Amino acid sequence: MASCLFCRIAAGEIPCNAVHADDEFLAFRDIAPQAPVHILVIPRRHVASLAATTDADAGMAGRLLGLARRIARDEGLDAGYRCVINTGADGGQSVDHLHLHILGGRALGWPPG
Ligand code: AMP
Repeated sequence: MASCLFCRIAAGEIPCNAVHADDEFLAFRDIAPQAPVHILVIPRRHVASLAATTDADAGMAGRLLGLARRIARDEGLDAGYRCVINTGADGGQSVDHLHLHILGGRALGWPPG
């Protein structure tokens, strides 16, 4: 989608600090990291949010989680990490393109704000 920030990053129109790229997904470091490791994983295909997925996206969603697990392992997050998908206004979603945050490298508090 031409106006979508993460579509433009996926298309290479806006630079990012990529840690993984394949035909289906791109993973890159968050521009405003909230932890020593803060990576976003996005599908290249535009999906507005988790709420916009359907059961037909189950395969993509499973591969997204598997990729997050492999990235966390490769980043050395052996002590643990958190995966977050902010969804909609109350969920704090600021970019309307599905993305999974991987946060780690420090002990994370709970509950979130
Ligand atoms: P959310 O608030 O869950 O929608 O997350 C959006 C995330 O995208 C935030 O953590 C932002 O810091 C991050 N972000 C926004 N623009 C960029 C960018 N150009 N490169 C990397 N991360 C970005």
